[in-house]
Amino acid sequence: MEKRKQLYEGKAKKVYATDDPELLIVSYKDDATAFNGLKKGTIAGKGVINNKMSNRLMQQLEKAGVPTHFVKELSDRETLVKKVSIVPLEVIVRNIAAGSFSKRYGVEEGKAFIHPTIEFSYKNDELGDPLLNTDQALVLGLVSKEEVETIRAYSYRINAFLQAFWRSCGVTLVDFKLEFGRLNDGTIVLADEISPDTCRLWDSKTGEKLDKDRFRRDLGGVEEAYQEIMKRLETQLM
Ligand code: ADP
Ligand code: UDP
Repeated sequence: MEKRKQLYEGKAKKVYATDDPELLIVSYKDDATAFNGLKKGTIAGKGVINNKMSNRLMQQLEKAGVPTHFVKELSDRETLVKKVSIVPLEVIVRNIAAGSFSKRYGVEEGKAFIHPTIEFSYKNDELGDPLLNTDQALVLGLVSKEEVETIRAYSYRINAFLQAFWRSCGVTLVDFKLEFGRLNDGTIVLADEISPDTCRLWDSKTGEKLDKDRFRRDLGGVEEAYQEIMKRLETQLM
């Protein structure tokens, strides 16, 4: 499958059309941004790691019964995916307090929850991705009631799967962001990526951060953390 016109360049990926109107090629960049684009940088090798990690995890999720956009890995940085119309919601699943949750509710980072939580924000960079509840998502026409139920059910299933998977790698899954999309026939599938850019992953023993927080918070060892988390995944999937 050949890349055709570039349709979109985002903060972390480029998206290309192909000869098949139902398929796209995504190309992962090393560019990193945080705080809605205010902080910019590069993480050498990140695109390769995020591409491969997201693909491995989506392949596993498919086996666990969650439909995804993944079709085929084309190269280190490029993947063929099913074209979807993205549901403009960032779906955030949390198992442990961190980041904006800790800040908003005054809860110390690292406090484990008695059960996972799901929150939604409106995927809209101009508005700064504001939080919203399902009623608000429905009245804004972002998603239907049935779709929200499907998205919630898949998100919990994805969390259970990923939590167990990362635990087996000696890693605690703190929280993560998902995006879903609609295929032509309306079927909801998991899209975008699952990577250290979109998940908080802590070493289970030491609590060391193995994700993009190292970049966001200037903790150093960013490239090394991405390499380490990828090594853990590959060792586990060998
Ligand atoms: P952003 O748009 O936030 O800067 P990226 O740089 O990751 O993010 O750009 C990738 C874009 O492609 C995102 O807007 C994402 O919603 C979209 N996308 C991801 N998977 C698909 C897909 N299967 N079909 C269509 N669009 C997709
Ligand atoms: N996240 C993301 N993209 C976003 C916002 C959040 O991938 O635009 C991920 C982030 O990596 C973390 C989880 O979602 O794993 C929860 O992020 P949070 O709401 O705590 O926001 P942050 O502290 O990153 O601003």
